[in-house]
Amino acid sequence: MATGKINVSVDNIFPLIKKFLYSDHEIFLRELISNATDATLKMKHLTTIGEAKVEYGNPIIEVKADKEGKKLHIIDQGLGMTEEEVRKYINEVAFSGAEEFLNKYEDSAKDSGIIGHFGLGFYSAFMVAHKVEIITKSFKDEPAVHWSCDGSPEFIMELAEKETRGTEIILHIADDSTEFLEDGKINELLTKYNKFMPIPIKFGMKTETLPKPEGAKEEDPAPTQEVDNIINNPNPAWTKQPADLKPEDYKSFYRELYPMQFEEPLFHIHLNVDYPFNLTGILYFPKLSNDLNQQKDRIQLYQNQVFVTDNVEGIVPEFLTMLRGVIDSPDIPLNVSRSYLQADGAVKKISSYITRKVADKMNSLFKNDRAEFEAKWNDIKIVIEYGMLSEDKFFDKADKFALYPTVDGSYFTFEELQEKIKDTQTDKDGKTVILYASDKEAQHSYIETAKAKGYEVLLLDSPIIGHLMQKLESSKENISFARVDADHIDKLIQKEETQISKLSEEEKETLKKELEEAITDKSFTVQLEAMDSDSSPFTITEPEFMRRMKEMQQTGGGGGMFGMGSMPDMYNLIVNTNHPLVSEFLNTKTAKKKERLINQSLDLAKLSKGLLKGKALTDFIKRSYEMVK
Ligand code: ADP
Ligand code: MG
Repeated sequence: MATGKINVSVDNIFPLIKKFLYSDHEIFLRELISNATDATLKMKHLTTIGEAKVEYGNPIIEVKADKEGKKLHIIDQGLGMTEEEVRKYINEVAFSGAEEFLNKYEDSAKDSGIIGHFGLGFYSAFMVAHKVEIITKSFKDEPAVHWSCDGSPEFIMELAEKETRGTEIILHIADDSTEFLEDGKINELLTKYNKFMPIPIKFGMKTETLPKPEGAKEEDPAPTQEVDNIINNPNPAWTKQPADLKPEDYKSFYRELYPMQFEEPLFHIHLNVDYPFNLTGILYFPKLSNDLNQQKDRIQLYQNQVFVTDNVEGIVPEFLTMLRGVIDSPDIPLNVSRSYLQADGAVKKISSYITRKVADKMNSLFKNDRAEFEAKWNDIKIVIEYGMLSEDKFFDKADKFALYPTVDGSYFTFEELQEKIKDTQTDKDGKTVILYASDKEAQHSYIETAKAKGYEVLLLDSPIIGHLMQKLESSKENISFARVDADHIDKLIQKEETQISKLSEEEKETLKKELEEAITDKSFTVQLEAMDSDSSPFTITEPEFMRRMKEMQQTGGGGGMFGMGSMPDMYNLIVNTNHPLVSEFLNTKTAKKKERLINQSLDLAKLSKGLLKGKALTDFIKRSYEMVK
């Protein structure tokens, strides 16, 4: 038996390890299984290149919990270690790694979720164990070794009996960590961190149902057998070549990733690059709702099939964090803070690669199957619009396939739309006005008025569309967006000089005065317009600029106007001075009749804008019945 002292400058590092990232104690299991996996893959490599003249076989890794003995075993059939290697890799290398890591990151560790995931390695075992044993036999023809350490810098090393190649790590679980002896907890950790690791991991046994033998009776139970319970899928879809996968394989991998998700993904993007950085993965577009915040943190980041985190902020451009799926890259530095990550050159390249891949995929979908793309547009538009807003490179690409649906269900690209409306919807100043509605039902009468003029009306209802319009207005020439209820239609797209008014200046003044007196609601501004006599007598409009600024501020940033969010709604009451009803109002002498006329007309205007509610609506209905009588 040999004893020794681990060479360490910090007198006792174990209490430090234990304290380190308290909430992250659970990563010890991932670290030990990673080591077991590494050892197995190294063995595989050595046998393939002929360096080791041993049979590789079908090695697995086994996790065994011994509740009574309060021990957890992690057993592999990897390359094992000789006595010298234990000295070197466990006593010196691993330890100095752990020490260096602690010195470097102790202070900064707490502010970043990603730190602490990697680097502690073997010694993370001491976060949950008061004593750790290693029994290991190298593939080389040397005796097995038994190493043990009780948490002080002293260790014991002696020869062991082990006959088979590989390493067994035995953790004597500390009293404050006994949860890690529970099957449920172990299963949870294995599923979280090791679900896609490349070597099969066994945890206990499970019962498998076999097909009934021929001639078995209906009531005979199906035979069963006990088999190894393998918790992982060592060959997940993202590690395969796209050419070897069918659409169904992508769907079933999605279900494997998100077992609780019943909806199918809309489509997938297979990422696969090995120069100038390494990255594989599959991204999925889920059906997205309009709630921007609900959908984040669903992309899982792996490093060589080991789960790292599901917070990919800083690695994936913000607008793509709404997607789901897996990214696997050994090139993403993990032991750094998020702000450092964002500045890292490799990470920047990864981010722009992913952005480009997403744009290319969309573009090919649009080109090759436009009908399908249109059918899915509503479910993906939020990501694309968000991307167009936040990444200029993406904007340039997406501008060719981003769609603008009309209220009648046609879909135009921006270029197609411009071509379609430039003759009809260009005003006297040469500006092409793009009309849109945000709600087909609520803005129905305005939409109909615009359509009657032969105009196209888009249906734009995403929460961030105001920001995108703003961007389009500033990046394209001579276009502007206007919601159908932003003004009277003839004012929205002003064709020639205004119509001649039937009313004299004097009459107009009287009319305006009387109307302003009659309308008590101060959010309305009276605006007299000479229009076609068959245009509505009263129309309520909501000026585009103010409304859009308010909406933009509600969805965050970009609006620019301070305090806009708390401003009251402002409406214009457009009065068509050429309408017979307006003349009648002016000519009516009885105050009572006048009042009824104005109330009823104003209510009708409010009704068509969806503004008539509560008592006002009740009064209106009552009054209308009186009039029907
Ligand atoms: P890292 O895995 O980053 O090298 P660790 O602290 O996890 O750091 O492990 C240190 C070293 O100990 C490994 O590089 C390896 O050489 C050796 N080692 C650890 N676990 C095993 C194992 N199960 N089989 C063989 N060697 C191992
Ligand atoms: Mg390791």
